[in-house]
Amino acid sequence: MYAPKVGDRLDTLDTPSMVVDLDLMESNIQKLMDRLLPTGVNIRPHLKTTKSAILAKKLAAAGAKGGCVAKLSEAEVICAAGFDDLLITCEIIGPVKVQRLVELYRKFRTIRIVIDSEHGATTINSALAASGIEEPIAVLIDLDVGLHRTGVAAGEPALALARHIGELRHLKLIGVQGYEGHLQHLHDKADREKQCLASMKTLTDTAASLRDAGFDIQVVTTGGTGTAEFCVTVPGVTEVQPGSFIFMDTDYRNAVGSFYSNSLTILSTVLSKQGPKIVTIDSGLKSLTTDSGLAECKDARYTYGVLGDEHGSLSWEHDEPALQVGDRVEMVPSHIDPTINLHDVYYAHRKGVIEEIWPVDSRGKVQ
Ligand code: PLP
Ligand code: MN
Repeated sequence: MYAPKVGDRLDTLDTPSMVVDLDLMESNIQKLMDRLLPTGVNIRPHLKTTKSAILAKKLAAAGAKGGCVAKLSEAEVICAAGFDDLLITCEIIGPVKVQRLVELYRKFRTIRIVIDSEHGATTINSALAASGIEEPIAVLIDLDVGLHRTGVAAGEPALALARHIGELRHLKLIGVQGYEGHLQHLHDKADREKQCLASMKTLTDTAASLRDAGFDIQVVTTGGTGTAEFCVTVPGVTEVQPGSFIFMDTDYRNAVGSFYSNSLTILSTVLSKQGPKIVTIDSGLKSLTTDSGLAECKDARYTYGVLGDEHGSLSWEHDEPALQVGDRVEMVPSHIDPTINLHDVYYAHRKGVIEEIWPVDSRGKVQ
C-alpha cells in the first residue's frame, strides 16, 4: 500500500503532493522573529495559512505567543489537536455558531473572539449566560481601519460598542483588532508604510480613547506579512498577526520582495507531451489556486497554464532542456492560503529526504 513515511526521498512521493523545504521554512520563521521580537511586540501568527497545530507549536517554540484562526470551526480542530491559545479573527454570528462557540469555550477558556456589532455581543452574552459558565469570554472590538470588510467605525461607534459590551456580564473587553488587509500587497513599499501608519493611527487613537473612557484595553492587534514590520514601530500596538511569511507565494513575493523565501511547492508530474515545447502536468485548479494569478514553475524557464480541474501546461521558448513525460517539477503557488486548503498533508523535507509529515488539520473548515 502507498504510505509515504519519514526517511523516504521526495522522488518516492506520488503527485500532486504538497512539499515544504524545511531549511527555507525555518529560515523564514527565524527572519520574522529576528525582525519583530526585539521590538517587544507579541507575534500571534495567523494560522489561516498553515491550518496546522504542529506548525502553531513550532512558531510558539520560536517565540510566538498564541495564534489566530479565521473561523470558529478552525479553532475547534486546532484546539482538539493541542493548541488552544487562539484568537478567532472573524465575527461569530448566528445561533448555531454562537452555540458552537459556547461549547468550545466550555473546554478551552483561552479562546478570544472579536465583535463588531451589538447584535453579536448580545447573542454571545445571552448564550454564555444560559450555559452556566461563569467566567466571561475575552473580547476584542474589531475596528475598521480602512479594509471595509468587517469592523466598527472608529470614534463614537467604537465607543458605543465598548459601552454596550461593558454592560454584558459574560463578555470581558480586553482589546482592539484592526486589520489593514487592503495594504498587505501594495507593491510600493513607501506607500504601504505610509498608509499602514495611517491605519495604525486610527487603531491606536481608538485604543487610547477607549482607555480614556475607562476600558481596560490591553491588546491592540493588527498586521500581516506585508505590514508587520511597520506596525511594530507604532507605540501602542501590542501584537501582530502575520501568516503567509512562513511559506510565501508568488503574489506576495512580487509585492514585498524576497526577504522571505517561497518554501512550499506542489510536486507535479509531466503526464503528456503536447508539442515540442509544451507538456501537460497533473496539477490544475484542484491543486493550485488562480485567484491571485497563475502558479509558477520553480524552474522559471517553464511557464504554467491552466488546463482545467486536474491538468496544467508547462511551455517554454528555449530548445533545451525540454520536459519529457514522467519528469517531475515543483510548482510555486500564487496564493498560499487557499492552495494549502486543497491538500491533506504536508511532506516536509530537508535536501530531498522527508523529515516530517503534518496533517492540514483545519482543511475545509470554513464555518
Ligand atoms: N490577520 C487577519 C485578520 C487576516 O485576515 C489575515 C489574512 O488574511 C492575516 C492577519 C494574515 O495576513 P498574511 O497572510 O497576509 O500575513
Ligand atoms: Mn491570503
